[in-house]
Amino acid sequence: MKFLKEPTDKGLHIPRAALNLCGFEAGEKVELHTAENALVALKGRMTAMELLRAAQSLQQMAVELHTHLAKVCGPCDGCEGECPFETRDEDEIGLPEYLREEAGIPADAKLCAWVDDEEHTVTISEADYDHDLRDVPEEVLEMFRATGICVGELEERLIVGDTVYGG
Ligand SMILES: [Zn+2]
Repeated sequence: MKFLKEPTDKGLHIPRAALNLCGFEAGEKVELHTAENALVALKGRMTAMELLRAAQSLQQMAVELHTHLAKVCGPCDGCEGECPFETRDEDEIGLPEYLREEAGIPADAKLCAWVDDEEHTVTISEADYDHDLRDVPEEVLEMFRATGICVGELEERLIVGDTVYGG
């Protein structure tokens, strides 16, 4: 069950109905776990069975989020062959530090390489975006590839950085 709430200056109000659905009783402690882009409220005291169910719920939520992203990307109709990051071996673009410094590229910058096979040159530059397939966990990438989801589309979404979840 999903409740859409907006945080205010005072915080986030959780409706009693939501707490009831989770099995949170009044006077019982609730643990708030902060995570990147997520806040998880766990029952403060749990039996083994309750813990297992909570863990299962979180796992299920992760599956639903990945499935949502997979639906946004859709099935691949053959762009996989042109995917610039097909294998993880190509992940690291090596650039000696002195060259990087001379070019004024920050140490933590994401690098891109452009190949000119006629001129036999490779141009290495700072990427003008924050994220691409290199930031995707390998197991998620594997799952997308195994189920025929368009990895090229996923990369496009990462580079553009537009909203893929919620309005
Ligand atoms: Zn594709």
